[in-house]
Amino acid sequence: MTQLAYLAPSSAEEAAAALARDGARPLSGGTDLLVQLRAGRTRPAVVVDLKAVAGAIGVREQSGGFVIGAATPGAVLGEHAALSRAWPGVVEGATLIGSTQVQGRASLGGNLCNASPAADGVPALIAARATCVIVGPGGRREAPVESIATGPGQTSLAPGEFVLEFRLPPRPARASDAYLRLIPRTEMDIAVAGAGVNLVLDEGGRVAEAHVAVGAVAPTALLAAEAGRALVGGRLDDAALAGMEAAVRAVCRPISDKRGTAEYRTRIAGVLARRAALIAFERAGGVR
Ligand SMILES: Cc1cc2nc3c(=O)[nH]c(=O)nc-3n(C[C@H](O)[C@H](O)[C@H](O)COP(=O)(O)OP(=O)(O)OC[C@H]3O[C@@H](n4cnc5c(N)ncnc54)[C@H](O)[C@@H]3O)c2cc1C
Repeated sequence: MTQLAYLAPSSAEEAAAALARDGARPLSGGTDLLVQLRAGRTRPAVVVDLKAVAGAIGVREQSGGFVIGAATPGAVLGEHAALSRAWPGVVEGATLIGSTQVQGRASLGGNLCNASPAADGVPALIAARATCVIVGPGGRREAPVESIATGPGQTSLAPGEFVLEFRLPPRPARASDAYLRLIPRTEMDIAVAGAGVNLVLDEGGRVAEAHVAVGAVAPTALLAAEAGRALVGGRLDDAALAGMEAAVRAVCRPISDKRGTAEYRTRIAGVLARRAALIAFERAGGVR
């Protein structure tokens, strides 16, 4: 049996060089990767642990926005007061992953790059219009979060590339977000559907900007651009919410499985988006 090599580089460039080796895989928290290794579903030759890479763990404020290290554990995000105030929905998506134990390790980078259609951390990041800083043998590039997963277990990352950090845009006053998911059990299950909504209100309390993203209802999490547009200009009246729900349902392409039929998932995605929009609106200081 070939031995699995373990590397823990301290710079992003060293990590990219290590990841360019044949059969190399990045490791963040390991809550997906170690399970897959133990089950024999993946057999990398080299595991490149990103946790010691400068910038891969931690949260910092930069140019009015936030930068989240891609390997930062969910528990750290949940305890970050300023991030939780500005982006409660992004933090909700990250912190409802798994259990207390899983939270000590599970990261948004791993959640995104594991590329599960039901990844809970991803819809709110997409609704936030977050970008990823990607490092690879060719240097650095920045890409929108929604461009990373291309299908179940598949990403657009080139060999040797990894996500170093996420960038969240500056947050104006009267802005907030929310993430909701439905799972068949009360905890530790895979979402039937999930929805993230990010709203910015104008001085009059009307929606000036809205972004809606859904998870578990297509091969990847999706930005429902039309759904966001349906909310702009008003105070989430019933007609706007109905338009938003219809636009969410229109982008859904779910599977049917033991957690729910495609019809059920599609309906639930709309309901969750409506509820998340109402929560984000209230958090932003909106009054209907
Ligand atoms: C008990 C349990 C409960 C769970 N509950 C949930 C849940 O409720 N919701 C949910 O969404 N998930 C859940 N998960 C799955 C998992 O915890 C999450 O997907 C988690 O966010 C993965 O992050 P990680 O840091 O552990 O990733 P890892 O396991 O380290 O990596 C996951 C994948 O991404 C790659 N990768 C890791 N970091 C990077 C990077 N920075 N750049 C490029 N590629 C990278 C790895 O090579 C691997 O393919 C659960 C898992 C367990 C074991």
